[in-house]
Amino acid sequence: MNDLFYRLMKTALQEAEKGVAEGEVPVGAVLAGPEGRIIAKAHNQPIALNDPTAHAEILVLREAGTLRKNYRITGATLVVTIEPCLMCLGAALNARISRLVFGAHDPRCGAARSFYDLLGEGRLNHTIELIPGIMEKECGKLIQDFFRVRRAKDTRSRRGTEVVVTGSTRNRLVPLKAGHVGSNPTLSANKIP
Ligand code: ZN
Repeated sequence: MNDLFYRLMKTALQEAEKGVAEGEVPVGAVLAGPEGRIIAKAHNQPIALNDPTAHAEILVLREAGTLRKNYRITGATLVVTIEPCLMCLGAALNARISRLVFGAHDPRCGAARSFYDLLGEGRLNHTIELIPGIMEKECGKLIQDFFRVRRAKDTRSRRGTEVVVTGSTRNRLVPLKAGHVGSNPTLSANKIP
């Protein structure tokens, strides 16, 4: 079974990596059926979609619900690179998934055991099997590197220096303007220090 979790987590990590280039907090998720087949995969996209609920977990649950024509996705396994926040774990509970596999713990927002322990309280009428720490190092490193680069950009921005940006201005030095993704204080989804 562990082989399956690693395989699914590798796909979730590939999803998360897409977020780096897009300036999204790099979190990836995969939803698999009881037999291990992938139903949906996604990465965090609150910026691109202008949607505070567009965490990777919510996006895969929505897609799976649409595909199954059912808001309950019983028997499914949710695999996500970072421990889910309250919103996402709440959605997973409402969807009645069977199992949650996550990579890195999130001491700031994690609702599955690190900051809150929703699943361990024993007060809910649905339980989700929890498998934490699959490829924890790799998952944690991706997001830590992302915030390290962003903090460095923020520092340069505050000092009024110039930075290299990608896209149409790729490889040109341009001033970093206020409101650039690197200085956006609202990007705290699944934030890891
Ligand atoms: Zn979330």
